[in-house]
Amino acid sequence: MFKKSFKIIATLLCALSIIPFATGFATEKPTVTVTTTFLADMVHELAGDAVNIETLMPAGSDPHLYQPKAQDVQKISKADLVLYHGLHFEGKMVEILEKYGQAVTKDFDKDSINQMEEDNTSVVDPHFWFDVNLYKQATQTASDVLQEKYPDLKDQIAKNTTAYLAKLDELDEWIKKELGTLSEDQHYLVTPHDAFNYFARSYSFTVYAPQGVSTNSEVSNQQIGETVDFIIEHKIPAIFVESTTNPERMKKLQEAVKAKGGNVAVVNGEDEALFSDSLAPAGQNGDTYISMYQHNINVIVKYLSQAQ
Ligand SMILES: [Zn+2]
Repeated sequence: MFKKSFKIIATLLCALSIIPFATGFATEKPTVTVTTTFLADMVHELAGDAVNIETLMPAGSDPHLYQPKAQDVQKISKADLVLYHGLHFEGKMVEILEKYGQAVTKDFDKDSINQMEEDNTSVVDPHFWFDVNLYKQATQTASDVLQEKYPDLKDQIAKNTTAYLAKLDELDEWIKKELGTLSEDQHYLVTPHDAFNYFARSYSFTVYAPQGVSTNSEVSNQQIGETVDFIIEHKIPAIFVESTTNPERMKKLQEAVKAKGGNVAVVNGEDEALFSDSLAPAGQNGDTYISMYQHNINVIVKYLSQAQ
């Protein structure tokens, strides 16, 4: 009897001693769960390979409309750390993200957040990343959260943050220089959905998007008519497709311009669609925030410089 109990206890002790070892080994590298490709890139810049990164929305998907799958909900509720954009960008996941995650926009000054009209109500414009200074602020917030969560990585993350923020300053300077080659009457950007207002504010552009701020809304004939007039009035040479929205909409707009006697090119194609709400898939041009912005600027300058 005694012998049998001893054996059981010994077995249990043995098992218990293995479990912490096994768990400690498996969690050695923490996993940061993020909603979008932007944040995957940001965390990779800040923490390098010291963390695993789990991205919920694949490249090319539309975060405004993305419906969380059962496995996403499970990942979020069990994650070590969840980072998300906020400003209602992840429109169908707001509740669960507010419960379990930290928004990289949480420290934004209210005055720095763009407000937009949608269906006669004022809504928050989530596309802050096209303001490089706000993107820097979001990066700093993500860095602070990571350093607090993983004190062992503090020095490494702090060092990476300083280097990355300097690269973002260089990017901002480069954008100003490139856009400086356009004249003032070439500063008109027409895209399917209204993702470029922070860009417009930062670099003195006028933007126009028939679809409004969210890809969810329908485009009315009146909105199309207004956009057509805008294109003809300003002699805009080209309108742009986005990688995350249906290109057919811009073709319809082009036809409507032609019907009114105007002429406008639709910039499309795998290599020339603008990135708005997602980075490119890994391994392709535009798969980092910096290369995404460089791609957009190169395409914009190439086509808008043709304006008369
Ligand atoms: Zn959007």
